[in-house]
Amino acid sequence: MRDFSYLRASSAEEARNAALQAGTALLAGGTTLLDLAKCGVTEPETVVDITHLAGLGEIAVDATGATIGALARMGDVADHKDIRSAFPAVSESLSLAASAQLRNMATIGGNLLQRTRCPYFRDPGTFPACNKRNPGSGCSAIGGVTRNHAVLGTSETCIATYPGDLAVALVAFDAVVDLGDRKVAIDEFFLTPGNTPDRETVLERGEMITSISIPVSSAAKNSTYLKVRDRQSYEFAAASAAVGIELEEDGKTVCDIRIALGGVATKPWRAHAVERALVGKLLDAETIEKASRLAMEGAVSHGGNQYKIDLAPRVVARAILTMAQTMGALA
Ligand code: FAD
Ligand code: SF4
Repeated sequence: MRDFSYLRASSAEEARNAALQAGTALLAGGTTLLDLAKCGVTEPETVVDITHLAGLGEIAVDATGATIGALARMGDVADHKDIRSAFPAVSESLSLAASAQLRNMATIGGNLLQRTRCPYFRDPGTFPACNKRNPGSGCSAIGGVTRNHAVLGTSETCIATYPGDLAVALVAFDAVVDLGDRKVAIDEFFLTPGNTPDRETVLERGEMITSISIPVSSAAKNSTYLKVRDRQSYEFAAASAAVGIELEEDGKTVCDIRIALGGVATKPWRAHAVERALVGKLLDAETIEKASRLAMEGAVSHGGNQYKIDLAPRVVARAILTMAQTMGALA
């Protein structure tokens, strides 16, 4: 057991100031932080408890969009009737994540900032080489067991998959992350590893997420989240897709389509090429399947994860087919 100091922050400002110190970690639901502390990946000198801070747990939905406080619980957001109605894919991405117990504890801010499930990353005692944990030390996964590793957005230094579900839906619908003093589009919030896999987001020391906002759109309202995994509950995605569709007035032609992928990339991955291929088209099975293959443009296999290159386009196609059928638009 390693000693650390505990500070119960009385305001967001106090938490941010404390977090300016190196070796400080914010504590929200604790379901990631404590896990990583136990396996020796994170060794904070000071833990700053933000769980009780007022005003950061609210969920508000109006005609323009949703604002979700960073401390809102995953379960509360998943079950919120206005989120379910205006953003079904967001609600479903949360309902399909983790377990009921975890969803009751874990927060939206902590969820976005969860770390990769790469087994080499999470076992520093056995695998000292990990560029994400220890820059410049190498990557134990490349050349190792890669079944759960990413095929998109990888680099020669790291192939770890971003594991979360919620962020995938948020990327599809252009959510914005509010850091108090600045706002960042969610697609720019997450970083691919490049030469600095230890840097996963644009968050600077001393910054914290205060809320996220999601603009309303017809595509977000007509959306779904499909998650394929090794077992039907309590498992991370092998491949997932958030899909939302807006149709022209004819009720058949695609006016706007949003697609993002999870479980296959180093960050939540927007599939722009598939979107471009389907705008202005009628949705029949062949068109959908052909376009969905574009989701894997630039994909790189490391052996054990080759199956993801075959699986992910099928997950995308199935999610689009499901939405098209639901909307009565399948030609
Ligand atoms: P914490 O553990 O409190 O914090 C996580 C990190 O974020 C820490 O570094 C902390 O310092 C930082 N942090 C927290 N809040 C803020 C803030 N407001 N601003 C800045 N930094 C902050 N997730 C999925 O998406 N899908 C799954 O299928 C899934 N399955 C899981 C299965 C298991 C067994 C477990 C343990 C977890 C699983 N998870 C899954 C991950 C889970 O969703 C996350 O652990 C949880 O959402 C983290 O939220 P938290 O509030 O507990 O974060
Ligand atoms: Fe570390 Fe990334 Fe390699 Fe996993 S894939 S061992 S997280 S550098």
